[in-house]
Amino acid sequence: MPASPTSPAPISLLDLPAQHAPIQAELEAALRHVLDEAAFIQGPAVQLFAQELSEYLGGPHVITCANGTDALQLALMSLALPPGAEVIVPAFTYVATLEAAAVLGLRPVPADVLPDTFGLDPAAVAAALTPRTGAIVAVHLFGQCADLEALRRLADEHGVALIEDNAQAIGATFTTAQGHTWPAGTVGEVGTTSFFPSKNLGGFGDGGALFTRDATRAERLRQLANHGQRRKYHHEHVGLNSRLDTLQAALLRVKLRYLDHWTAARQRAAAHYDAALAGRPGLLPPARDPRSTHVFHQYTVQVADEPGRRDDLQRHLAAHGVPSAVYYPLPVHQQPAYEYLGYMPGQFPVAERLCRTVLSLPIHPTLSLEQAAYVGKVLESWNQ
Ligand SMILES: *Cc1c(COP(=O)(O)O)cnc(C)c1O
Repeated sequence: MPASPTSPAPISLLDLPAQHAPIQAELEAALRHVLDEAAFIQGPAVQLFAQELSEYLGGPHVITCANGTDALQLALMSLALPPGAEVIVPAFTYVATLEAAAVLGLRPVPADVLPDTFGLDPAAVAAALTPRTGAIVAVHLFGQCADLEALRRLADEHGVALIEDNAQAIGATFTTAQGHTWPAGTVGEVGTTSFFPSKNLGGFGDGGALFTRDATRAERLRQLANHGQRRKYHHEHVGLNSRLDTLQAALLRVKLRYLDHWTAARQRAAAHYDAALAGRPGLLPPARDPRSTHVFHQYTVQVADEPGRRDDLQRHLAAHGVPSAVYYPLPVHQQPAYEYLGYMPGQFPVAERLCRTVLSLPIHPTLSLEQAAYVGKVLESWNQ
């Protein structure tokens, strides 16, 4: 075992104050402007942010809303599926992906994920499709695109909608066999994202957005997010009150300008981790799909599927001042809230195994290369 590595500056899983420090003056000016203007609901910054985000994503319609979970709910509402229609979701994801379907009286149908990239497995989706399927929700988990080409094809062949839950992969792209480059979130009938503070484009509270290339659907989503009204006090749909605050939009406009810069920093840290893990048995770095870029919302390794193995690594890291986290400890079909769906342990073996073996390492835009190198050394010093 190599000598115990010595720690640089303390390492955290997320360091928003350090990320915001260099742009503090811009953030304060934006904040001040909103306070002075006092248009707190649907003020000018909301429309400007939507325009700028649209340009960033190559031109889809952008509809802002209150959070990423509402975005998923609104996306499903825009499909007007019959009660009880089935919505295929990954068995390994954050709960919001299926919660949105469940609250609408739709039936979440988990499908297993791929063991290396964590994305929805197209073969599992094909097996889960029934005449009652209304939508497939793909999640670009941890910052890398699911197999968008295969999932888009499946959705088209079966006449069901594709929704992209892009809460974790804003700025990622997927390149098709024909060489077309698709921005994540713009390939489905609707794409959704979240501006939860810890996301790659995080606000200062809750926020979310929807993307669509269809002008009619964009108009419908805009109405659904605002009490189903086109004109004030004239309600054409049963909608939600789900709006992005002007304050959040103004601050997100500032942060959007730095998103690519921050993504590059995440990718540099990831390259350090990759190098440290190369050829290290028993510790698997996150696989890259060569068709997708990876924006590293998380850098997630897999340990061997043996009792106590992951706890041991997590303890070793903690003992050397390196925090880590398990996203996610339980697959969706084993969450108590979703027991009513009637699935049994063993039905989604890949998701179940990942829940036992994944560990996410610190990765954020202000993680220095020194710190990343240190984490790499701590990983190398883990005595399995
Ligand atoms: C964060 C997240 C959401 C929900 O976003 P909120 O803004 O917290 O409601 C949905 N799906 C995934 C995959 C997420 O990571």
